[in-house]
Amino acid sequence: MFTIVKNTSEKIFVSKILCVGANYPDHIAEMNPGKPLELPAEPVIFMKPPSAIIHDGDSIIIPKISNDVHHEVELIAVIGRDGKHIPENEAADYILGYGVGLDMTLRDIQSEAKKKGRPWTIAKGFDTSAAVSAIIPRDQFGDPHSKELRLFVNDVLKQTGKTETMIFKIGKIIADMSQVFTLKRGDIIYTGTPHGVGPVKKGDRLRATIGRDVELNVTVAAE
Ligand code: MG
Repeated sequence: MFTIVKNTSEKIFVSKILCVGANYPDHIAEMNPGKPLELPAEPVIFMKPPSAIIHDGDSIIIPKISNDVHHEVELIAVIGRDGKHIPENEAADYILGYGVGLDMTLRDIQSEAKKKGRPWTIAKGFDTSAAVSAIIPRDQFGDPHSKELRLFVNDVLKQTGKTETMIFKIGKIIADMSQVFTLKRGDIIYTGTPHGVGPVKKGDRLRATIGRDVELNVTVAAE
C-alpha cells in the first residue's frame, strides 16, 4: 500500500503504520468519565497493517464483527528516510511531510480487549481502518504543532482539537518509536486524537481537515 504526495503522482510504499493512543488530555478525559485525569508517562504505541490504508474518496467498510465503529481524526506524519535511534532534536529531518488521517476504531471490540488485557490489533487494524489524506511536504506544511484538526460527519462538526495540546510532540514520538522500530521511508505515524470521538454508520460522509487546505473525504459502508 502507498501514500500520495499532494499535487504529484508520487506514490510512496508504506511498510508500517505506527500510532500513538491517549495523546490529548481532552480525549483521555472523555474515555474515562468520572475518573481523575491520568496522563501517560510514555507514549502508548500500537500498529496498523498497511493493508488497512484507504485514500480520499474511498469507503470505510464496517466489519460484521462490530456494532460500534468510531472516528478518530489525527495529524499524521510520513517518514522520509530510514532511521533508528533518532534523537528527538533531529526527528524533523526524518519527516517527509504531514497530512490528516482517520484512525477508525472498533470501540466495542477495543473495550472488550482492554477488559481482558488482550491486544488491540483487530479493533485498530481491520481493513479500511487507516484513512490517509494526500501528504503535504514538510517545508510547505508549517508548524505541525500549531494546527487545528476538525472532523465533520454529514457536515456536522464532531471533533476539534489543537495539535499544540498533544501530550507527546512529534520529536519525542519519533525518538521513542525509533528505539524499537527501524523507521522506513513511507512509514505513517498517527499522533493521537482530540476529544469528540463517536460512532459512524453506513451511509455517513466523513470530512477530516487539518489547517485550511488539507482535507480527507470518505464515506461509510457496511460489509
Ligand atoms: Mg487514535
